[in-house]
Order: sequence, then structure tokens, then C-alpha cells
Amino acid sequence: MTIDDAPREALRGGPRELLRWVATGAAVSRADLSRLSGLSPSTVSQRVEALINQGLLEEAGAGQSRGGRRPRQLAVPTGGAVVGAIDLGAHHARIGTLDLSGRVVQGRTLPVRIEDGPETVLGALLAEVTALASGGGAVSSGGADGASLASGGGAAGALRGVGIGIPGPVQHSTGRIVSPSRMPGWNGFDVAAFCADRVDVPVIVDNDANLMALGAHRTAHAEMDHAVYIKAGTGIGSGVISSGQLHRGAQGSAGDISHCRVVADPAPLCSCGNAGCLEAVASGAALVTALREQGVPVDDLTGVLRLIDDGDRHATALARQAGRAIGEILAVVVNFFNPQVVAIGGRLADCEPLLASMRATLYERCLPLATQTLLIERVATSQDIGITGAAHLVIDHVVAAHP
Ligand SMILES: [Zn+2]
Repeated sequence: MTIDDAPREALRGGPRELLRWVATGAAVSRADLSRLSGLSPSTVSQRVEALINQGLLEEAGAGQSRGGRRPRQLAVPTGGAVVGAIDLGAHHARIGTLDLSGRVVQGRTLPVRIEDGPETVLGALLAEVTALASGGGAVSSGGADGASLASGGGAAGALRGVGIGIPGPVQHSTGRIVSPSRMPGWNGFDVAAFCADRVDVPVIVDNDANLMALGAHRTAHAEMDHAVYIKAGTGIGSGVISSGQLHRGAQGSAGDISHCRVVADPAPLCSCGNAGCLEAVASGAALVTALREQGVPVDDLTGVLRLIDDGDRHATALARQAGRAIGEILAVVVNFFNPQVVAIGGRLADCEPLLASMRATLYERCLPLATQTLLIERVATSQDIGITGAAHLVIDHVVAAHP
């Protein structure tokens, strides 16, 4: 259940990085890998052979000849092996299969009732993922929304592992859920053990914000060593990339900003028992609650976002307040951690008033040196960002397991 936490320096030209360079097209040959890594051709050859033997790389015909023998081209296999991924949300789960480069092969969105409990929900989602991986299509035919074949073709292939994201705190060493705020019946549930009884491949469990951070980092900011990703949807959380690696801290709770206190008057009560937590002020769920308390009839976050789009005064003011609250906490994070990029994702990332006040607060409260070259941006909107992160959890694990 652990992944390789070796420092970045040790990974320069390590198997994971070689694989990534081939997967992203930065390298197509051993010579490219040698040039990018600074490693000797013989060291690169050894590492490439090991990756080929593990089925993580393959040779794909001849490359461009510059006279003499044509170099053999390297590629990440697209048909041989897949990784399963589950990104569990409050009402929906995105599941999929991805190839070993982290490209989505198949993706589906399924409705979920968290209150049905972990055995029912995870049992069904695992069955769907293994069915996708075996090329058998969906287990359930009803209710699938947005089912798609992302890149055409079947997904059949050997399943190498399953990555799972949970919308609540996960103890990394055990894969156990600890005190989630909106998941009744899930507290203390051992996701990893439950899944290990059902599939005989590695299962890696993490929280949804870490998945988004890893997915966004590997696809948009892979060359940046220090990054912070905020996931602002129904709940609110963040994932931290430090020295190119997901930083989990001692227990796995690093980046969990949901119960940091912000200035709010009145300070709304939080599900954790305290008042004025970021989650109780700035999450999608908090906006729904606050609007209802003001007598505005609204069903869910979709309704709130629609009101903001329509210029509703109450909803817009709340979104600005939420942006300020996120900006306050983020300013502490930026001053403390000095990232190169701060990116916001989740459904609230499309909310302009929230984004504008978050950005303004961040500039107002941060040290000039911390913001001088800081990029503040949206996570590229994709429903597959979470399953991409989940797949990279597994890919990293597979690569780390075969040094
Ligand atoms: Zn709280």
C-alpha cells in the first residue's frame, strides 16, 4: 500500500521519470532518455530493459535514421495492460481504465448514494472497473451518465492495479477512512482491506484532493517541483506537490485545509463541532446552507452556480466571501510553502466572483517574494482529472515495485 517516497534527486532518470518522458513524447529512444537524464547510455539501456521486461515499455519499430542502424523506438504499451481508477464523489463516481502512460482508455460516470455504505458502493464500483478492464463493458446498464469510450476501442488488458479516491480523510499507511464529514457509515472503514479481498492486484487509496493534485500535476505542471492544488466542490481540500512528489505528511492528512479557521461573522458551525471552519464558510455545501438560511430556495450546488451566473446578489456576495476565505488560508500556505503554482479545481473553480476575490486576497496577504512569479490558475477542467491521478498512484506503485 505504500508508494516510493524517495526524494526527487534520487529519481532523476529513475524508472518513473524515464517512463514519463516516453509517455509524454519527450523521448522516443534510448538516446533521448540519455540526453534528458544525463545518465550514461548503458545505464539507460539497463533501466529500459527492466521496464520492457515488466511490460511497462515496449519497442515500437524503427525510429528516424541518421545514417547507420535505425534506433529502436520506445513506447508505452497501449493494449497490453491497464490500470483501474475510481474517483468517488458525493453523488457521482467517475470510473475508468487508463493505459500505463496515464491516458484514459475508457471512462464512465455513475450515480452514487454514499449513504448506502462502503460495502455496497465500493463493491459495485470495483465490479464495474474490473468489468471495464476485462473488456466486458458495464455491470449495470441503468443510470450510467456520460458513459464514453475516451479513445475508442476496447480496454481489455491485464489489470495492473486499482487507484481509488475518497472524498474524505484517508490514513495513507492503512488505506482507512478517518472521520469524513459527509459520509455517514464510512468512518473507520478499511477501504484497502475491503478491496484487497475482491481484486488480486494492488489497490492504492487516497483522498480526492490528492488525486486531483497528482492528476493535474502530471498532466499540466510535471516540470514544476512545488505546487498546491485546491479542490473546491461540495467539500473543500487541497493536495500538495513538494519536490515533484505528492506530499502526504506523517499520516496522510497534509493539505487538508477544510477545518482551518477563517474570519467569518457570524461563524457558521461546522460538522466537526467547531465554528468558522473553511469548509463551513467556503465549500459548495456551505453556500447551499447559507442561501437557504437567507430564504433563497436552492436545491444544490448546481442551483447556487446558476444563481451566481444570473447575477443574484445574495449568491454572488456569498461566493465573494467564500473566495476571500479560501484566499486567506491559501495565503498562509503560500507564505509557508512558496509554491510555483497554485491551481484551483472542482466545481467552484468556474465561479468568477469566488476566483477574483481569492486571487485578490492572495496578493494582498502574501509576501512579495512568494507571489513574484507565482502562477495562479484553474485546473484544466476535466471530469477525468481524478481518475488520471488515481492511475498515476498505481503506475508509480508498479514502477516503484520493480526498481
Ligand atoms: Zn470543521
